[in-house]
This record gives sequence, structure tokens and C-alpha cells, in this order.
Amino acid sequence: MPIYEYTCNACNEIFALLQWNPNEKDTACPRCGSQNIKKLLSQFSCSSSADSGSSSGGSSSGFSGGG
Ligand SMILES: [Zn+2]
Repeated sequence: MPIYEYTCNACNEIFALLQWNPNEKDTACPRCGSQNIKKLLSQFSCSSSADSGSSSGGSSSGFSGGG
């Protein structure tokens, strides 16, 4: 679900709200109730996985068949 973060300029409170509609409704700070808020940019959770090392087996069995 689209969750946007807002920061309140009054009490500097950061809260997340659900914004289904693209238009911003009269959003107020749930803490102080001030509408002097600003929407924060959504940040993606970047996770880096350090997984290196590949098991390569180079084993060739020769089967020579005389003909
Ligand atoms: Zn506030």
C-alpha cells in the first residue's frame, strides 16, 4: 500500500500516512494537529547481499573406448 512519510514543521514529527488518492487531502500532524507538514520523498530500501564464490567443479572423466 502507498505509504507516504510526512514531517511536521511544528514539532518535527515524522509520521507515515496512507494516501490512496493522488491528491493530497487535508493532512494534519497526528501529534500536534498542525497542517504545516511536508511530504518526504519515498526511499527505497537498498539491501546489498555479499555473496561471492561460485563452486565450479572441473572434473572430466575420460572414458576411452577402443574401437
Ligand atoms: Zn506536529
